[in-house]
Amino acid sequence: MRKNTNSKRTIRREIYVVAVLFALVFIAMIIYLARYVQVGSRDFIYNSYNSRFSVFADDVTRGSIYTADGHVIAKTSLDSERNQVREYPDERLFCHSVGYVGKGMAGLEAEYSFDLLKSHITLSEQINNSLTGQRSPGDDLYTTFDYDTQKAAFEGLGMFDGAVIAIEPETGKVVAMVSKPDYDPNTIATYWDDITDETKNNSALLNRAIAGAYPPGSTFKIVTTIAYLRDNDGDDSFSYKCNGSMAVDDYTIHCSGRKSHGTEDLLKAFSNSCNSAYAYIGVNLDLDKYNKTAEDLLFNTKLPTDLGSTKKSKFSLSDESSKSLIAQTAIGQGDTTVSPLHMCMLVSAIANGGELMEPYMADKIVSVEGDVVSEHEPVSYGTIMSDEEVELLNQYMEAVVMDGTADSVDFGDLNVYGKTGTAEYTTNKSVTHSWFVGYATDENGNKLAIAVIMEGAGYGSKYAAPLAAKVFNAYFE
Ligand SMILES: [Zn+2]
Repeated sequence: MRKNTNSKRTIRREIYVVAVLFALVFIAMIIYLARYVQVGSRDFIYNSYNSRFSVFADDVTRGSIYTADGHVIAKTSLDSERNQVREYPDERLFCHSVGYVGKGMAGLEAEYSFDLLKSHITLSEQINNSLTGQRSPGDDLYTTFDYDTQKAAFEGLGMFDGAVIAIEPETGKVVAMVSKPDYDPNTIATYWDDITDETKNNSALLNRAIAGAYPPGSTFKIVTTIAYLRDNDGDDSFSYKCNGSMAVDDYTIHCSGRKSHGTEDLLKAFSNSCNSAYAYIGVNLDLDKYNKTAEDLLFNTKLPTDLGSTKKSKFSLSDESSKSLIAQTAIGQGDTTVSPLHMCMLVSAIANGGELMEPYMADKIVSVEGDVVSEHEPVSYGTIMSDEEVELLNQYMEAVVMDGTADSVDFGDLNVYGKTGTAEYTTNKSVTHSWFVGYATDENGNKLAIAVIMEGAGYGSKYAAPLAAKVFNAYFE
């Protein structure tokens, strides 16, 4: 009897020990699984040794990518052997922003691969899918792009190399972004050698909108104008008599078409895009302050955005710089280079009362059931121009469109504020890039900022400004 009780006790103790051990193993497994899901799987998906998994997972169908207005711009379907195939229905239209999978990954496809391969359907459905050998649907990515605006920019650029970028000033949402030459992401693997052939020198993979390094031409007069205002405590009193050229040491700066603009105030010098007046302004600026202004306006700085591999814009003048270089720099020639994105950010800040919103193109991750998994909130970089500077620039940029260099461009019913540019980029002064930067507002106060560059096209007023008008109208329609 006693012996019996003892053995029962021993058995109970053994059961207890086994139960505790099971519980510990179970907890350890939960921790391991949670770690795998939270951290491990991201490392796993991005591990370069798992190139197949980095594109397609066995248990999840890669999610789709959409424009803000619901057009599918990247999706996965199954081929006859039930292999996953990534498709881009609009071919080249979004190639530089969405990127590709198929020859490694690039663009949003690379940056959001983890999210596209993650499924937020219920756990029981996921388990059911894996037991029945079906893939769970991955989450979808909604971008900030507007389909019609993107299309207008893409078609408007036509056969020209160059870039268009359009941003919503109040939020930093990138509404359109086009770069040419381009490529078809559907066939990237097939034509890879051709696309990356350096002897052909067309760098189709390069996103010129964010990574181009262009001479800004007269669009840079926006920066020189702000430098002038900062040199003069915000006072825009100015008078200059233009007779069509200005000699600086042994170099002569000419006004466009060798036109004499006569006596001008700052507004007239800006809206006429008078090179002589701006060369005169340049050589009289305090160079330390000029550099400081350029740096406050994000030159020589990594741009505050996660759009991809952006190019730093370049500006530098020193006491060693010749007077002729300073004069050329003031009108956007010289050694200065900019990206279209940077110019778009500057006019976007003007449109937004001086406050710069950081540009972004990935808006939200949404589960296949429509639940928002994560969403990008607009981020302010801060105020880069004073109220007074913004007010004056608005007057000057409006004058460009009303009775300045862009007065022949039909912008429809929109109020447009802009600056044209015609940028020399070789010693042949007759070959020029065509620029337009600015913004438009409609009757409801909605705004869109834009930068357009058409390589080798000619006058900004003749090519880039009419393209900007098309993009504005597609957006506000
Ligand atoms: Zn002039």
